[in-house]
Amino acid sequence: MPTPIWQPCENYTAGRDGTTVDRIVIHYIVGTLAAADATFADPDSGVSAHYGIGEGSFHQYVSEINTAWHAGNWAMNQRSIGIEHSADPDRAPTEATYQTSIDLCVRICREYGLNPQTQIIPHSSVVTTACPGTVDLQRIRDAVESRL
Ligand SMILES: [Zn+2]
Repeated sequence: MPTPIWQPCENYTAGRDGTTVDRIVIHYIVGTLAAADATFADPDSGVSAHYGIGEGSFHQYVSEINTAWHAGNWAMNQRSIGIEHSADPDRAPTEATYQTSIDLCVRICREYGLNPQTQIIPHSSVVTTACPGTVDLQRIRDAVESRL
């Protein structure tokens, strides 16, 4: 498991108001990891995620003990860890991006006791959005399940 590199980000709420983490929300950036870095570093964007993966890099923006602003739904933000993947509508994540994401999800599922088939969810299940687009969510679920 590679160690994430911290990136500047002030777009989060301290703590989770006592809420237990029971979901991983999967996102796609619609752009590269550098685009996510820039957006999450901008206080005016009002958005963030815990992790971002792409172009061979693995970044962390918000501590898992804090609430990131990624799901478009406050209750879901409080109960979830958000992971962004470098991809576009016509560009799927790379193999390296999938492998890092799977490694990360394995660690999170073990730590919080999550069922990957039901507790790793697409952003589109929370709000109306095309996200996570070209990310093959079922592939991530199945790979994680095989390693638990
Ligand atoms: Zn999303």
